[in-house]
Amino acid sequence: MDSEQFRAAAHQMVDYVIDYLDNIRNRRVLPTVEPGYLRKLIPEEAPEQGETWQSIFQDIERVIMPGVTHWHSPNFHAYYPTGNSWPAMLADILSDAIGCVGFSWIASPACTELEVVMMDWLGKLIGLPPVFLASTGGKGGGVIQGTASEAMLVGLLAARSKTLKRLKAEHPEKDEKILASRLIAYSSDQSHSAAERAGLLAGVHVRVLPTDDQLHLRADALQSAIKEDTANGKIPFFVVATLGTTPACSFDDIDELGPVCNDHLLWLHVDAAYAGSAFVCEEYHHYMKGVERADSFNFNPHKWLLVNFDCSAMWFKDADDIVSAFNVDPIFLKHDHQNSAPDFRHWQIPLGRRFRSLKLWFVMRSYGAQGLRDYIRKQIHLAEQFHQMLAADDRFEFPVPPSMGLVCFRLKGENSLSERLLKRINEAGQVYMIPAKLHETYIIRFAVCSRYTELSDVQASCEEIRRHANDIVSA
Ligand code: PLP
Repeated sequence: MDSEQFRAAAHQMVDYVIDYLDNIRNRRVLPTVEPGYLRKLIPEEAPEQGETWQSIFQDIERVIMPGVTHWHSPNFHAYYPTGNSWPAMLADILSDAIGCVGFSWIASPACTELEVVMMDWLGKLIGLPPVFLASTGGKGGGVIQGTASEAMLVGLLAARSKTLKRLKAEHPEKDEKILASRLIAYSSDQSHSAAERAGLLAGVHVRVLPTDDQLHLRADALQSAIKEDTANGKIPFFVVATLGTTPACSFDDIDELGPVCNDHLLWLHVDAAYAGSAFVCEEYHHYMKGVERADSFNFNPHKWLLVNFDCSAMWFKDADDIVSAFNVDPIFLKHDHQNSAPDFRHWQIPLGRRFRSLKLWFVMRSYGAQGLRDYIRKQIHLAEQFHQMLAADDRFEFPVPPSMGLVCFRLKGENSLSERLLKRINEAGQVYMIPAKLHETYIIRFAVCSRYTELSDVQASCEEIRRHANDIVSA
């Protein structure tokens, strides 16, 4: 393909993308394919001779689309949203064209510098305290990670390294490996499984603490775990608090947990993967009360802030913690400016990194703070409207109130009724939702996800749910 052929193909692809998204409502949200469907549709080997663009293009509808779950369908209500917007897609095209690998400042100065400034813009936009921002001239700063799971692992590894350094300084005679084997971290029964996984990857035990009946991790639960584990020779060092949990979008009280963490020298990582985007709206800032006590804070603009995957924003109060944890400095990565600008390779697990801050820049400029607030408020309002509609049917109950863009509901009675209901709905494929368990109660999660979802879609989803409920209840 030469540049003129690319121009024509790119125009065709842009038209296809626009038509795909503008008409996505007409596609069944869940595909009907069986595992292994794709191999049968394409040759066993790569072609010996290059093919025409047209033959490749035609295979998008033939091979790919039958197996796509349409995350941007207005009827996609599973998991949490994944971001999507025209300006973010434009940024990714440019990022692909520049095609730099921005592991250090010199590797592409604009890639590093725009990221530093965008993380400050974004931090200010969500009301993060200045101590997390690079522009204040302190030790704070932000970086774009790939995912919230990565951010959790990075936070845990930084905390582990910081704690071991302190312990080694206090007890030089002790073996570091033995000290490391005594470390213990905490998450809650509502935390994302990424916390447990970070522990497995880092080789430390993550103890899952119980939440209260409102699904919050409370200071007394944390305190008694610290006391018990310390008495058993363990060394507590890391806590994950969640603002907007995955099962029910509940919020841990970081104002209550923060002082416990600070008093016991535990690193506090705040995971706001989904709900963090809502902090562009001032009315939700109260959830962040006490965040200045945290060591790291993370949310995914690629979930709910109209930025395409991947873009997970993470801030440190003291970036030295992360830089000193992962710093290796081979000669081929050294450069003359490494003391005057961040080299983000030290802030993350991989070496290479894409130019992801372009997406933040284009999205924040295109929508403006007001546009982003309007978007979040509209989605939350749609969730409230869905709740009202379904609540009018007294066969349903809501074990927790709607939170942000998420409504958790179930059929009154045994868990198995709601399990059967969800299975039927997903098999029909018009609306896609997933379940969760709140302690022992099975619930169905309805998350407003797509930027295309309108009131009429929510009404149609509600009707679809009620229609399937008729069959379940009469059976
Ligand atoms: N934390 C929370 C609260 C989440 O809801 C999720 C995913 O939905 C994650 C972490 C994991 O996110 P990621 O896919 O970015 O690792």
